[in-house]
Amino acid sequence: KPVLGILGGGQLARMMVLEGAPLGVTFRIVDPADTPCAAQLAPTRRADWNDLDALAPFAEAIDVATFDFENVPAETAQWLTEHVQVHPGPRALAVAQDRMAEKTLFRDIGLDTARFAAVDTRADLDRALHEIGAPAILKTRRLGYDGKGQFRLRDAVDADAAWAALGEQAAQHGLILEAFVPFDYEVSVIAVRGRDGEFRTWPLTRNWHADGILSLSLAPAPGADAIADSAFAHARTLAERLDYVGVFALELFVKDGRVLGNEMAPRVHNSGHWTYDGAVTSQFQNHVRAVLGLPLGDTSARGCSVMFNWIGAMPPVAPALAVGDVHWHDYGKSSRPGRKVGHATVCAADFATLRTRVEALAQALDRVEQASPLLDLPVS
Ligand code: ATP
Ligand code: MG
Ligand code: MG
Repeated sequence: KPVLGILGGGQLARMMVLEGAPLGVTFRIVDPADTPCAAQLAPTRRADWNDLDALAPFAEAIDVATFDFENVPAETAQWLTEHVQVHPGPRALAVAQDRMAEKTLFRDIGLDTARFAAVDTRADLDRALHEIGAPAILKTRRLGYDGKGQFRLRDAVDADAAWAALGEQAAQHGLILEAFVPFDYEVSVIAVRGRDGEFRTWPLTRNWHADGILSLSLAPAPGADAIADSAFAHARTLAERLDYVGVFALELFVKDGRVLGNEMAPRVHNSGHWTYDGAVTSQFQNHVRAVLGLPLGDTSARGCSVMFNWIGAMPPVAPALAVGDVHWHDYGKSSRPGRKVGHATVCAADFATLRTRVEALAQALDRVEQASPLLDLPVS
């Protein structure tokens, strides 16, 4: 029976274990933290990402390695390939770790992006602002997540404040200035590519963020049929160019019926969590299947689903379970502001029923504001 190693022991690893275990797969996890949440479900070793001596026993114990954390240093990923199969491979990771490389590749494959420019110095920032204009967003090229490491500039006069916030990171990781996209809405493609090149996508997911963190997802994304083919085609080309194996997410802005690439995540993704309860095969199980060379499962949705992210602290479970077709996911993490600690998925056969259930759940948990983007959508 194969042993699958996961670098990173967060909720993504935890859900891979939950979905891979029924296939007879066993897991080993490595993480720099003492007790990451997946450690409750699989043997976990503590090691820093660049400590190859500490990582060696992990590498020896596994057949294939994959990632819950995409920012593992390139040298570590490369070293791992000398011991085991690594999926996705180091090149895909390297591209997805750097917003400049990522957006450059998007443009190469014909996927438009917001205008962007690299910023390494204060003078670069002025030049980039002149070229791109305002409003704009200054971001760290590397290591940003949940909207961290970003500064929004309404106007060129915000340059000093932006530099005060992020200038220190410029020397270490580099920055990127992006034009602000006044998008109509955001969607993500969740896709999987097998070792043999087989490629599948789940239905498009529509996403809403609050304070830079994913708050709500709805799938299949209503009214997105006109852009779906081009979104899927871009995801497929991207996967083929990177010789990608496993699940990945491609985040897109939709503006005037066109898609713009925002970023990719070289792993299972928060906006695909609904697939655990709302699709024939979840992103977690298909990721495990893909990296182990097993046949991929059906990616169709069963009806429609909404995912609520629980940020900071878990709401009470009991009132939620009283609502029909609600699926609860408590990651077993301690509470902390801004931390993703769990989610709930609400499923239904049709959107009208889904809306009724979402309203009932939101009221039961006092989360009407969080649910409002969904409740505001037209029913047909
Ligand atoms: P994630 O947690 O998805 O990895 P992240 O920290 O890498 O997030 P982004 O995805 O770049 O950050 O940005 C987070 C959100 O901020 C986007 O989903 C979008 O809502 C908004 N945003 C980012 N870049 C732009 C832009 N250029 N124009 C308009 N909105 C943007
Ligand atoms: Mg990101
Ligand atoms: Mg993002």
